Amino acid sequence: MLKHYKDFLREKTGRYLMGIFLLLLVDSIQLFVPQVLKTYTDKLEASQIVMGEIWKIAAVIGALAILMAILRYLWRIMIVFTALEFEIWTRKKLYKHWTALPREYFNGVKTGELMSYATNDIGTIRRTFSGGVIMGVDAIFMTITTVVVMGTTIDWKLTFFAILPMPFIVYGVLHMGKIVHDKFRRVQEIFSQLSDKVQESFSGISVIKAFSQEELDLDDFEQINELNFNENMSLAKFQAKLYPTVRFIGRSSMIIGVILGARAVLNSTISLGDYVAFIKYLEILVWPVMAIGMVTNLIQRGLASMGRVNDVLDVNSNLKDSDNPKEAQGYNLEVKGLSFSYPGVNERALEDISFNLKEGGSLGILGPTGSGKSTLVSLLLRLYNIPQGSVYLGGQDINELSVKDTRDIFAMVPQDNFLFSTEIINNISLSDKEPNEDRVIQAAKDAQVHDEIMDFPQGYETFLGEKGVNLSGGQKQRTSIARALYKDSPILIFDDSLSAVDTKTEEAILRKLRVELSKHSSIIISHRISTLQNLDEIIFLDQGRIVERGSHEELLALGGRYYSIYEKQLLEDKIRGAGYESI
Ligand code: ADP
Ligand code: MG
Repeated sequence: MLKHYKDFLREKTGRYLMGIFLLLLVDSIQLFVPQVLKTYTDKLEASQIVMGEIWKIAAVIGALAILMAILRYLWRIMIVFTALEFEIWTRKKLYKHWTALPREYFNGVKTGELMSYATNDIGTIRRTFSGGVIMGVDAIFMTITTVVVMGTTIDWKLTFFAILPMPFIVYGVLHMGKIVHDKFRRVQEIFSQLSDKVQESFSGISVIKAFSQEELDLDDFEQINELNFNENMSLAKFQAKLYPTVRFIGRSSMIIGVILGARAVLNSTISLGDYVAFIKYLEILVWPVMAIGMVTNLIQRGLASMGRVNDVLDVNSNLKDSDNPKEAQGYNLEVKGLSFSYPGVNERALEDISFNLKEGGSLGILGPTGSGKSTLVSLLLRLYNIPQGSVYLGGQDINELSVKDTRDIFAMVPQDNFLFSTEIINNISLSDKEPNEDRVIQAAKDAQVHDEIMDFPQGYETFLGEKGVNLSGGQKQRTSIARALYKDSPILIFDDSLSAVDTKTEEAILRKLRVELSKHSSIIISHRISTLQNLDEIIFLDQGRIVERGSHEELLALGGRYYSIYEKQLLEDKIRGAGYESI
């Protein structure tokens, strides 16, 4: 249960336990106060007391109060602060863990679910370790010691009768707490549905508007929102009944105490001072007894949350990383008979792929949608485990390198280019903590997007995304390309990343790659023959297999599928060139 938290516990357990010790100290002092009161009352009744002594007693009570205040402050810092630190620490750990998880994991969970782990569950754990444990320790210690002190210093029989109703409090709180818990869980679930709904609606806001679905979407939202209201109301109603009931049981203890105690005083079994102290103790007792019930629930809830978070932390990033990684000797990329199926899928996404990409060389990949082009790229980037002996970098099996080093060797422009909601400059310099402005501008120039960026009033400081400017598809793509160029890795990969730029711009980008970045190797996936024709080798993928391969000329000479695509695109270009496109 606690294995994920070892590092934290090692460092902080001492302080936490110290806090608990101080808490118990305060409790003990608190128990002492009625004793002072008792002595004082007895003396007062017997008129054995002079005013000077009253001052003394007042001073003692005052001193105890100050001591308790200081100790309370200290234990709060020690326990509550530790719990807060624990919350932050765990959230960080969870976040870090998530970023290390393979992509498939995120296909299987909803954003709302992740949010609820990171907020609700971790918050519940924190409350368990601060409020929960404090209450628990406090409650058990106070209940036992109060009863013992009452019995020994006053009267056991009286104590027994007065605390008879107390177990009902524990039972009541426990039992009803379970109901509260179930209701609470419903509330949490609905809440996570609600945040999912909001998130999805606003991500897809343009689709909703374009299809005039605002009304329906609003209906959907209201339904969930109302459900959320109902569940919360149901919880609140139940709690509204629970607490007064429990308090009432507590009062009945007091009633028994008042009656039986008074009789005992009249019978002279106990002194008036005993009586005052006794009532005071009963008052002290109601809260810890209630707390025992509440704490049991809270701790159950905390353990459930911890279980959920642990389940996430237990998910292994099943990505194998080399234990003592070697360094790449050169960047010759060799793929030998690589076959791959996605986890849990029988069909092969790639079958017997082989090619050799020399340092500084270029490889083109062509093939219909779903033929495995992006899969091949994600394997090179080690988003999935790669079979041993199928991919070599600089003569070394890629599995011998660390995952991080491997990813540093490649710079990819992904098919679905994603820009973060931050300034353009930070989007381009993503691979660097501190952006190097000159290199950002150079990369943007090479990617043919510099002029357009400069057209924005704020240039490279233009904020993108939800709170800022939306770039066009082509601008996004070229900004993504600039990001990859900025990274300046030995091997560049373009996954269909030139589709949204016009042929002229594309040529300009490719020329840059060929001439100025010729020391880099490149893998270019494209549907356009014009993009691929100058590359060293082109492979044609279909259903995960290489069906044709060679240089542009060789492929044309082959007269196969590459050739027919070439003819088709040539015809399209002619039509365009003849000016028909403006029709
Ligand atoms: P391409 O990039 O050539 O269009 P992909 O490499 O994206 O093709 O997909 C190749 C095949 O693998 C397709 O049949 C696709 O459905 C499948 N595939 C892609 N991604 C996944 C995934 N994460 N899990 C399972 N199957 C996948
Ligand atoms: Mg693809």
